[in-house]
Amino acid sequence: MRTFQYLLLIPLLLSVNPDLRAQHEEPLRIIAFGAHPDDAELKAAGVATLWAAAGHKVKFVSMTNGDIGHFEMAGGPLAQRRKAEVEECARLLGIETQVLDIHDGELMPTLENRKIVADLIRDWQADIVLCHRPYDYHADHRYTGELIQDAAVIVAAPFFSSKTPPTKKNPIILFYSDGFERPYPFDPIIAVAIDDVAETKWDCISAMTSQFADAGSWQAMTLSDIPDSDTERRQIILDRMKARNSAVADLYRDLLIELYGTEKGNSIQYAEAFELCQYGSQVDLETLKSLFPTFGN
Ligand SMILES: [Zn+2]
Repeated sequence: MRTFQYLLLIPLLLSVNPDLRAQHEEPLRIIAFGAHPDDAELKAAGVATLWAAAGHKVKFVSMTNGDIGHFEMAGGPLAQRRKAEVEECARLLGIETQVLDIHDGELMPTLENRKIVADLIRDWQADIVLCHRPYDYHADHRYTGELIQDAAVIVAAPFFSSKTPPTKKNPIILFYSDGFERPYPFDPIIAVAIDDVAETKWDCISAMTSQFADAGSWQAMTLSDIPDSDTERRQIILDRMKARNSAVADLYRDLLIELYGTEKGNSIQYAEAFELCQYGSQVDLETLKSLFPTFGN
């Protein structure tokens, strides 16, 4: 295709996505990528549960198998354990899940991985894609964000892949919240109350014992004083995860009030927040609100 013809396509591909499963007569299809087998769960288990309960189709994908993030075990046995843990989470949330067999700490933004990501999005026929921002402390997180951004637009290109059909539109891409400030801080377009499904999220986190319970888990090793008791250790780590979700609600309280009204906005305890990626379809806030089954939809 000539360059000028391709340039004419760009506004079309980035424009408002009006179809959105004919305004929900058909289920929405959402795919959420995390770098490791706990990231999508930590950042989006709440909205995933809300979507799934409303009949929409959700899939989590871990870009790596998580085979080094533990202080007492590694390799195949850890990867298998982590796969089983996110499968249990998926069962609890009512979604599908997949763990790619790429070593933890070794994800690269290659053309091969771009094709893998694009095929996953196309295969799922995703309307909405969730992922990390490409600004993050961990290279696997950054490259997950880059790979999804690199797959934007081309997922809708008919001849990009022979394995999967193109998506009807360039999907909406939403970034998970994070606390990194350079090159710019996380800038949410939407914050979603997850209080109604919070217990499901805590059950999911509790199911990932290699991440959030073992004495040799990464979370336990960051405690200044690691309790010997399994129960105590589990509870301290779970409380820490609850506090993170509570901090999101507090940090974006003004946005919650704008979205839910003063009374409800002030009463929300736990939230998940998302930033709109400029490389996906661009939607206004009202359209975006209509996609989350928590704003009276
Ligand atoms: Zn991670």
